[in-house]
Amino acid sequence: MPQSAEKVLDHAPLFREPEYVEMLKNKKENFECPHPGEWVDDQRELTKTWEYREKNLAREALVVNPAKACQPLGAVFAAAGFEKTMSFVHGSQGCVAYYRSHLSRHFKEPSSAVSSSMTEDAAVFGGLKNMIDGLANTYTLYEPKMIAVSTTCMAEVIGDDLRSFIENAKNEGSVPADYDVPFAHTPAFVGSHVDGYDNMVRGVFEHFWKGQPRTEIKGRFNLIPGFDGFCVGNNREIKRMLSLMGVDYTFIQDASDQYDTPSDGEYRMYDGGTKIDDVKDALNAEWTLSLQHYNTRKTEDYCKEVGQKVASLHYPLGVRGTDDFLMKVSEMTGKEIPEALRMERGRLVDAMADSQAYLHGKKYAIYGDPDFVYGMARFILETGGEPIHCLATNGSAAWEVEMKELFASSPFSKDCQVWAGKDLWAMRSLLFTEPVDLLIGSSYGKYLERDTGTPLLRLTFPIFDRHHHHRFPLMGYQGGLRVLTTILDKFFDVYDQQTMIPSKTDYSFDLTR
Ligand code: SF4
Repeated sequence: MPQSAEKVLDHAPLFREPEYVEMLKNKKENFECPHPGEWVDDQRELTKTWEYREKNLAREALVVNPAKACQPLGAVFAAAGFEKTMSFVHGSQGCVAYYRSHLSRHFKEPSSAVSSSMTEDAAVFGGLKNMIDGLANTYTLYEPKMIAVSTTCMAEVIGDDLRSFIENAKNEGSVPADYDVPFAHTPAFVGSHVDGYDNMVRGVFEHFWKGQPRTEIKGRFNLIPGFDGFCVGNNREIKRMLSLMGVDYTFIQDASDQYDTPSDGEYRMYDGGTKIDDVKDALNAEWTLSLQHYNTRKTEDYCKEVGQKVASLHYPLGVRGTDDFLMKVSEMTGKEIPEALRMERGRLVDAMADSQAYLHGKKYAIYGDPDFVYGMARFILETGGEPIHCLATNGSAAWEVEMKELFASSPFSKDCQVWAGKDLWAMRSLLFTEPVDLLIGSSYGKYLERDTGTPLLRLTFPIFDRHHHHRFPLMGYQGGLRVLTTILDKFFDVYDQQTMIPSKTDYSFDLTR
C-alpha cells in the first residue's frame, strides 16, 4: 500500500495511486451497474443543448442544487448577532448539526446551537417535554443571557406552539419567569434562510418591544444588516463609515465578533453581538434601516407597526449602492457625508476607470440571495459589464420586477435576464446555452465551473472551499474596491493561463496589464 508512516499522503494524491485506481475501477464495473460509456456521453451532450434547457427551465417537480438553505439556519445566524445568546432549535439533532456545520465551515469558527433533540415519540406526541428539559439544560450548562428558539420542519408539521411551550417550560421552572426567551416559528418547508433570519429578528423585537411605551428620539436609527456571510468584514466597514459620519444608531444583529473570535488561549462561546439593553432601547429610534430588503420584510412591517419610519436597501455594494446608503443615513440624521467618504468614492471611481478596458462588455452570471444578486448586478453594470443571468432560488415575483427595472436603467443590459425560483441545475443549462465570462456566487458553483468551464468567483454565502474571504468587506466604497480587484484578478489569471504557452501564445503573456 502507498500509505505508510514515512510517506503519508493526503487523500487527493492517495486515491490516484495505482492500487486505488484499480480498486475503484473494479468497484464500478462489478457493483455499480454502470450505463455504457457511450450512452452517458450522449446524455451529457444532450444536457448542453437548447432543447434540454427548455425542458430544464420548465421543470417544476424537482429542485437540484438550490441556492438557498432552510429557514432555521437563518434564525440561528440571526441569534448569533445578539449578546450572549444561545440558539435553541426545536426539532431533531440532525437539522441543528447541519446549521452548525454550515456556519462553521463558512466562517471557520465554532458555531454554537442546541436542539430539543426530538425523536419519533416527540414527533407523535409533541415536543413539550423536550422543550422543558432542553431549556433547563441550556440555561444551566451554557449560561446564556438569552435563549432564542426557532423550529424545524418536524416541529412545524406536528404544530408545536412555541409561545405556550415556552410558557409551560417557565411554569415548570426550566428558566426563570422573567428570563428572555424570544422565539420564531421557522417552518423549513416554505421560504428560505432569509425568511428565518427575518422571523427571528422580528421575534426578538416583539419579545422586547411588545406593550412597551415608545419615546421617539429624533435622528436615531436602527441598522439591520440582513443575512450576510460577509458580516465579519461588512459590519465592521459599515460601522467605520457610520463613525466617520458621527451618527447615533443601534447596530441590530451584529454577528461580526461571534464569527471572528481571536486565538488567545480563551474559548468564547459568546462574543460581541447587540447588547440586550440596546435592543430594548431601539424601540425609541425614529427610523429602522435595513441593508437587505428581502431579508427583513416582516421585521420592517413590525417596525412600522410600532411607529418607526422604515427604509430598506439592496446590499450597499459599489458606487450607487453606497451612495444610496450614505444619502439615506444623511437624510435620517441630518448629518453631512464627510469629505473622507467623498474621497473614498472618488478613489473607487478612479480604480474602475483605470481598469475599464478589461471590464467593459464582460458577461456575468450571478446567483445567491435576492438582495446580494441585485447589489452585485448593479455594480457589474457600473463597471460596463453585463449581468446576463441573475438567479435567486429564493427570489420572488417582486424581486423579478425590481431586477427588470434595474436592467431598464442601463444601456448595458439589453440581454440581461432574471431567474426567480430557479436552481443551479437550471443555471448549468443557461451557462451552456448562453455562456458568460464569469460566474459569481457561492462554493456550490464549483460544479458549474467544472462542467461548463466558466470561472467562478466566490463572493457570497456559503464559501466552504476557500478561506477567510468573509473577513474582507464587500459593502461600501472599500468593499467595492475589493470586489473590483477580485474580479480583475480572475480575468488576469484567465488571460495568463490562455497566453502562457512558450512560442505559441506567450506573445500576449504580458508583464504589464
Ligand atoms: S429542511 Fe427540515 S429536515 Fe431539512 S434541515 Fe431544514 S428543518 Fe431539518
